[in-house]
Amino acid sequence: MLRENEKKAIALVVKAVCEEMLHIEIPPVIYKRIPEMTAPNQQILTTVGGNSYATIFIDPALEWTNIIVCAVAHELRHIKQYYDVNFDARKYKQPHELTFEEYNLQPEEIDANAFGEIAMLMLTDSKPRWNGMTEKIKAAIGDRKREILKTEFGINNVENNVE
Ligand SMILES: [Zn+2]
Repeated sequence: MLRENEKKAIALVVKAVCEEMLHIEIPPVIYKRIPEMTAPNQQILTTVGGNSYATIFIDPALEWTNIIVCAVAHELRHIKQYYDVNFDARKYKQPHELTFEEYNLQPEEIDANAFGEIAMLMLTDSKPRWNGMTEKIKAAIGDRKREILKTEFGINNVENNVE
């Protein structure tokens, strides 16, 4: 169960990632479990499109760990993608429509996971282990991470800085 001070920490992460890293409007964050969270371990998700800008939903039963920073940044990145012509939201498939590997190899997921890892590293000095991900997925996340660091943050000697 998330405590009040942990929710404040999440609000700071959301603000920092939106303003300093993504340059997007800060979305509302609502602490509520919603039916779209279909898997039991799915506790954070974003709705984009429709009439509203975007909303982040977080299951209040979530327990605080650093990985929340990665998960929140991942969701915020999906908002940025929605307004980015390089991504096509109409092609994006939900987890139940694909195999685990196919789902995670979608460009949107690779990009969001790579960005989530960068944000977690920058804000907490720790990084996700990607337990359960296949080598192919991990390699794709690594490649995208290096690309984002170079093109969006001007960091070229990635191996020395973040590996
Ligand atoms: Zn995602």
